[in-house]
Amino acid sequence: MRNDSAVRDTAVFLDRDGTLNHDTGYVTSPEQLVLFPGVPEAIARLNHLGAMVILVTNQSAIGRGMMTIEGLELIHERLAELIRPCGARIDGIFFCPHHPQDGCECRKPKAGLIHQAVTRFALDISQCYLVGDKRSDLEAARTASVPGVLVMTSSYSADVVKARDAGQVPIDFVADSFVHAVDWIEQQIVTRGMRNRPKR
Ligand SMILES: [Zn+2]
Repeated sequence: MRNDSAVRDTAVFLDRDGTLNHDTGYVTSPEQLVLFPGVPEAIARLNHLGAMVILVTNQSAIGRGMMTIEGLELIHERLAELIRPCGARIDGIFFCPHHPQDGCECRKPKAGLIHQAVTRFALDISQCYLVGDKRSDLEAARTASVPGVLVMTSSYSADVVKARDAGQVPIDFVADSFVHAVDWIEQQIVTRGMRNRPKR
């Protein structure tokens, strides 16, 4: 249930592999999906804040013939099962099934997945956030004009900081973990809610 009109149009876009779960190269079966510590509880906090929690994930394993869309759905059923005991839920899943050479508009670093979600749920882009571990995540956030949070939880993360330091990609917050990222987003949403509260 959304419980606060001040955050009604807010969404937090989440990358999956390397952000919520260990990036094992290609996650192609449900048992390969292993969440980082604290992820279910942190997603539940976003749910309770009234923000929509939306997965935006490149799944080129489909375009590469390593996995079917039905196989991806099984992995996402597993994800839902893993977070449900904490009262957490994912409100929407947008994935790019294409091969990198397909030249599609949805594969991150393009912002197509974010735009699909904004249209589907009539989101206010100025009230959204993105969390990811790769440069392509932060670039997609920049293209969509959404604040980007980098999590230092994969082998890709350090290179994103280097790219930021070289002035190549902006990062709004660097978090040690997904839990830390949610701490920051929660603070942003709460602060904004107080600022937006009507004066009497
Ligand atoms: Zn695509």
